[in-house]
Amino acid sequence: MAGIYIETFGCQMNEADSRYIADRATSSGYDVVSDPASANVVILNTCTVRDNAERRAYGRMTQFKALKRADPSLKLVVCGCLAEQDRATMQTRVPYLDGVFGTSDLVRLGDALAAWRDDFSDDDLTESRYLQRPLGGEADCVTNAFTHLRAFVNVQRGCSYYCTYCIVPYVRGRFDNRPLADIVREVEAAIANGAREITLVGQTVNAYREPATGFDFAELLARVAALPGLDRLTFLTSHPKDFTPKLASALGSIPQLAPRFHLPVQCGSDPVLRRMNRKYTLAEYESKIAVFREHAPDWALTTDLIVAFPGETEADFEATLELCRRMRFAQAFMFVYSPRRGTPAARWEPVPSEVGGARLRALAAVVDRDVRAYHDGKIGSVVRALVQGPSRKDPTRLAAKTGDNVTVIGHARGLGEAALRERPWLDVRLDAAHVWGCDGTILGAARRFDDPSPVAVSEPAFRSPI
Ligand code: SF4
Repeated sequence: MAGIYIETFGCQMNEADSRYIADRATSSGYDVVSDPASANVVILNTCTVRDNAERRAYGRMTQFKALKRADPSLKLVVCGCLAEQDRATMQTRVPYLDGVFGTSDLVRLGDALAAWRDDFSDDDLTESRYLQRPLGGEADCVTNAFTHLRAFVNVQRGCSYYCTYCIVPYVRGRFDNRPLADIVREVEAAIANGAREITLVGQTVNAYREPATGFDFAELLARVAALPGLDRLTFLTSHPKDFTPKLASALGSIPQLAPRFHLPVQCGSDPVLRRMNRKYTLAEYESKIAVFREHAPDWALTTDLIVAFPGETEADFEATLELCRRMRFAQAFMFVYSPRRGTPAARWEPVPSEVGGARLRALAAVVDRDVRAYHDGKIGSVVRALVQGPSRKDPTRLAAKTGDNVTVIGHARGLGEAALRERPWLDVRLDAAHVWGCDGTILGAARRFDDPSPVAVSEPAFRSPI
């Protein structure tokens, strides 16, 4: 069978798009493979949010050149935000690409995959391809046999908020909310396809408004949560400006929601928040978190933080450290500011890079302590976590994610791929905590999240290679 390999960089919007590409490819007769050397088509779904993401994507294209040289029939395709941003120059800069598809070209990409399918016989991979196996490099996510268990459903494209550091409104356009009926149909299809966890995604997902009726995001959550067959529901990424008491109350009252709320604060200083054009003050952010805590006291709160934004002083940075000490985030994604071409902040005086590096290390020390403490608090408990696949570092162990987004790793104990696809919810006793997550012992596997009687992994029927 013809193989397609999909690497995804960046946010869940891109993961949702990769899922769409995988579905279109599968219905055109491709098999989704997890090794680029066994693929006829290699897709890089790229991100431009940070300079580093852009460099990694171009680096990956250079690595795949070796594969293309070994087998010129291989189709190498780039899509996503970088393709949108550099569409006029990318094929000149990387002439061996077979296609560049922007963020609004996914349907055209699906059509191209269908048209190419006949070019590949079912056994035409050249021997020399296998010499290229050690390609190195790593995507944020590779589509694999367990990807369908998590479906990312776009509820909205683009963003109209124009934070001064962000490229998204320029490459994905202004808010474009999807009709509720389309979202519901896509979620139902994902559930029918085996999805156990649905993530509703949008750059500012909680600003969602149904175009025809004005239904808001809290109503959308309630509507999707009520669909038969849904195990768990979550959403990314929210904006503090659009967090309302009505949404807080929905979080506390919809039992299908995974107990994790990601609310990017970006920094703890009002002058910097103003220059970022974030549209809230620190006091407003904290009062919204207080309302959230009233309704969902046991949930994990996670965030994004940027250090060394242009003009950030030591006092501004100290305010961010103080905020983190008060909030005790269960997880935070931390970045040194990197200028994006075409955004207002890119024209402003930068903070020296060594200052940015030192601030990032100081911030990580504070945040990591809280993250580790959050994981420490789970030791000895048994959690139900959705399988992700073999651990990247040790394929004899399985990685899974809890509802509050903690990575847990345990020895596979003979659990095979077929059994895991059937029973993907793992009951894991947590034995040791780290900053990255927890080590544990896999005790059982269940079909559904609320299955009261999981099968013990010692059952011989479960034992086969992953
Ligand atoms: S809210 Fe700001 S950071 Fe988020 S996508 Fe919109 S412009 Fe970018």
